[in-house]
Amino acid sequence: MSIKNLKFDEKGLIPAIIQDAATKEVLMMAYMNEESLKNTIRTGRTCFWSRSRQELWWKGETSGHIQEVVEIDYDCDGDTLLLKVNQTGGACHTGHKSCFYRGIKREKDVEKVFDPKEVYKKSLDADILDELYEVIKDRKENPEEGSYTSSLYKKGENAFLKKIGEEATEVVMAAKENDQGEIIYEVADLLYHLMVMMVYYGVDLKEIYQELEGRR
Ligand code: AMP
Ligand code: ZN
Ligand code: ZN
Ligand code: ZN
Repeated sequence: MSIKNLKFDEKGLIPAIIQDAATKEVLMMAYMNEESLKNTIRTGRTCFWSRSRQELWWKGETSGHIQEVVEIDYDCDGDTLLLKVNQTGGACHTGHKSCFYRGIKREKDVEKVFDPKEVYKKSLDADILDELYEVIKDRKENPEEGSYTSSLYKKGENAFLKKIGEEATEVVMAAKENDQGEIIYEVADLLYHLMVMMVYYGVDLKEIYQELEGRR
């Protein structure tokens, strides 16, 4: 390849997609300028241009999560680079292997972009949990007479922590009896008590979604 074939933008930058050479997973995207690209070619380690810090950025200089370059490709019109690398540690500064550990599919405001049937099914599943989570939060913040949720919070954390243990045992027993209806009922109970606990400790459902997404 020749750097002369490349089209850097008006700021002298070109996007570089970083791919795991072995698994082909897309790890991250960052910008290079001519100097960082030359550094990368010279050393076999990725060097980028940080737009936020306006300086050269050797990937891994603080985290140790360096990238050894296996191959550098550029696309049909020469405005994008693709680097295949051997990645040490996670490519993302959040600790995830890839920067692309989040999905937009479940965000309501972009539903129309996707197959409506599929989105409806998916959002229905998640929505009922989200809704219940909000109700639980409300019962905690505005205690109501006769509300089971409010009474759990009034008794303190040991009350619902104990319930989580009991409900988990009931799920196991229902499963052992191979009783579908009972499994559904007990899993619902367990999920409810887990959410009571999450609200108490300030853990949002979204954080669970994100964690699961990151494990894909
Ligand atoms: P590192 O290059 O891994 O030592 O990280 C140094 C700094 O670069 C971090 O504090 C982040 O600001 C930034 N950084 C590292 N990796 C990424 C990434 N994959 N995407 C965006 N910024 C990153
Ligand atoms: Zn882009
Ligand atoms: Zn292109
Ligand atoms: Zn990242």
